[in-house]
Amino acid sequence: MSVIYQKVALIGLGLIASSMAHAMRAGGLAGEIVGHAKSAETRATALEIGLCDRVYATAAEAVQGADLVVLAVPVGAMAAIAEEIAPHLAPGCTVTDVGSVKQAVIAAVQPHIPAGVEFIPGHPMAGTEYSGPRSGFATLYKGRWWLLTPFETTAPAAMVRLRALLEAMGAKVDTMDAAHHDQVLAVVSHTPHLIAYTMVGLAAHMEQVSNSEVIQYSASGFRDFTRIAASDPTMWRDVFLTNKEAVLEILGRFTEELFVLQRAIRMGDGDHLHEYFTRTRAIRRGIIEAGQDTSAPDFGRGPVAEKL
Ligand code: NAP
Repeated sequence: MSVIYQKVALIGLGLIASSMAHAMRAGGLAGEIVGHAKSAETRATALEIGLCDRVYATAAEAVQGADLVVLAVPVGAMAAIAEEIAPHLAPGCTVTDVGSVKQAVIAAVQPHIPAGVEFIPGHPMAGTEYSGPRSGFATLYKGRWWLLTPFETTAPAAMVRLRALLEAMGAKVDTMDAAHHDQVLAVVSHTPHLIAYTMVGLAAHMEQVSNSEVIQYSASGFRDFTRIAASDPTMWRDVFLTNKEAVLEILGRFTEELFVLQRAIRMGDGDHLHEYFTRTRAIRRGIIEAGQDTSAPDFGRGPVAEKL
């Protein structure tokens, strides 16, 4: 494959950015990759393991001369970074982000984007429960959706070029409205994470069940919750603070459904439970048929297990 961007600046060097660096290197997609992260330790690691050709102590220095800038920091850090880099962006460059929430990131970043620079918000729907510069791997985006939420004014040529990079990293690209993105993600990702956090927190607080029993007898349902609930606390705090409306809406509906199931259990309404679980099983089959997961019994562990 050939170089798509001459100089890519990665701002934030965690799971998402490091996976991009590995994928871009594997495909020869970037002339050079430079980066910035908050801590000197992460910057040193990024150099040591070859994620970046150069690292900078400030985001402002890192973006200079870049034709692609990727904001890969927690959602709550986007506004300050955007304000810092704005005067240093090269005319004609594209800025994209990878934040899990789109409307809040647009509100934080777009006001700082100078004329002549394209901001194309994005969200790779791929991840693991690991974080930091050593957690990335080149195949993270393979076969996974990367959603873009461009504006009506976004230059088509900038879209084509960004899409080419994402597809060359193995991703499937789709576009949608930012508000719709946040609603969809509240259903498929944000609320499920909150439920997993709650279930693991609940088990940890139950006095009749000791912590060692929770760990020792952890069966698949709880075990999968613990994997999700091990996700990065900063990232997820910011997701819930910034996608508040959509998550609260889905949580309200979730609570209603839960009460209906609770009542069915209390009343011994097996037909209701069976019919409900039959419908949810069909959704799982649909996800496998759409290629979003494998039918292997230990689903969700393939790429991570291979990497470790
Ligand atoms: P991560 O592994 O925790 O890495 C975050 C990176 O951002 C670290 O390099 C950190 O630097 C840096 N950082 C944090 N605050 C900063 C600041 N104020 N200035 C400069 N650098 C800063 O996170 P991630 O999983 O890659 O997530 C990054 C973004 O991707 C988030 O917006 C998240 O919503 C989104 N996302 C994540 C996933 C996922 O599953 N993880 C999936 C899709 C999208 P230090 O190491 O020096 O602290």
